[in-house]
Amino acid sequence: MDFRFSDEQRMWNDTVQDFMAREVGQDYTLQHDLSREFPEDVFRKMADLGWLGLLVPEKLGGMQTDPVMFAIFCEAIGKYSLDTAACIMTSMFTVQNICTHGTPEQQAQYIAPFLRGDAKFSISISEPQSGSDAAGGRSTARLDGDEWVLNGNKVWCSGAQLPGATIAILARTSQERYDGFSLFLVPNTTPGLHIKKMNTLVRKSLGTTEFFMDDMRIPKSALLGEVGKGWRYIGEHLDLERLSIAASQVGNARTALDDTKKYLSERDAFGKKLSSYQVLKHRMADDETELAAARLLVYYAADKLARGEPANADVAKAKLFTAKTLFQIAFNGMQALGGYAQLPEYHMERYFREAKHGMVGGGTNEILRSIIAKSMGLGREG
Ligand SMILES: Cc1cc2nc3c(=O)[nH]c(=O)nc-3n(C[C@H](O)[C@H](O)[C@H](O)COP(=O)(O)OP(=O)(O)OC[C@H]3O[C@@H](n4cnc5c(N)ncnc54)[C@H](O)[C@@H]3O)c2cc1C
Repeated sequence: MDFRFSDEQRMWNDTVQDFMAREVGQDYTLQHDLSREFPEDVFRKMADLGWLGLLVPEKLGGMQTDPVMFAIFCEAIGKYSLDTAACIMTSMFTVQNICTHGTPEQQAQYIAPFLRGDAKFSISISEPQSGSDAAGGRSTARLDGDEWVLNGNKVWCSGAQLPGATIAILARTSQERYDGFSLFLVPNTTPGLHIKKMNTLVRKSLGTTEFFMDDMRIPKSALLGEVGKGWRYIGEHLDLERLSIAASQVGNARTALDDTKKYLSERDAFGKKLSSYQVLKHRMADDETELAAARLLVYYAADKLARGEPANADVAKAKLFTAKTLFQIAFNGMQALGGYAQLPEYHMERYFREAKHGMVGGGTNEILRSIIAKSMGLGREG
């Protein structure tokens, strides 16, 4: 058993952490959060470095790293904001579906432009009546000659409004609960698709949308893989997706705790530094301890995935615990910074808002507990 990074992993960690400090930083992140702009130049710089292809097989032009190297990347890109991490990661997951199930034509159409930084992807599963219970989706796709005709209402589709975005849409081709879903690749400029941005508390740079499909016609070739396999396809990379969120939560929690420590070490009250009061020191010590535990859970799950071992419950534990840890650290940070915590330029309110979303996005804390309970032999829900 070795808890240390290998030389290669340490170098990779240093490389991505340096990139984030040099090319992104707190001020850039703050400005993009305030203006709700996508960090396009960072996305392109990562494309130039080949990093958008971390999960893409080499034969398709990527660099296919293992889940531990990917977790290191996600921990670093979540350093200043979970939103920044989502801006990069959302496309990286969705393109996986094309790598695994796309036809050679679809791969040629989508993968190279994505690796160049010219294309983005969104994933649309959730509907107004079905979030956690995603199999309750009602949007339909019907074959009419050489075209699919899609109808329905989707919500919370992050990044669907961005220029050059293609949406992977889950829609019903039959009524079977799970095997009734198919996955379609739909450019966001398709006629009949009406996208509306949602005014969310988080994911301000990536943006989240609701959209309606009114007899939206797409070519037969827009189907990804086989009819009735959509549910299976989106489930294939769920562990990796949840692991990446967990890793980015650890990265963000590290910054939130460091910011808290810095503030308390610099601020005086009643004639001495705030950091000298035992109650505040102990609170930070508890947070430091929980963060260390959270990080170990992430790399334990990543290591299992890298070895090809089943890690569904381990990933759920990592995501659940890192979400709770980040929320606790950001909550304590809000208290530690007093009134100044309310100001965006102190960054803590961003960590706090985003930490709350960490308990919902990519599977809520309750759904993760259900996965863990199932692994304990306590039965499944739904
Ligand atoms: C900013 C943002 C971005 C998002 N981006 C995307 C995206 O890109 N693509 C996409 O498809 N979706 C996206 N989502 C949707 C997200 O995945 C859902 O919000 C999430 O799955 C929860 O669904 P819901 O909001 O409908 O809540 P519900 O499922 O209605 O749940 C409400 C509450 O009930 C709890 N609950 C539900 N079932 C159970 C149960 N069996 N036992 C105990 N408690 C339960 C939940 O944990 C939650 O606390 C995004 C959401 C947000 C807010």
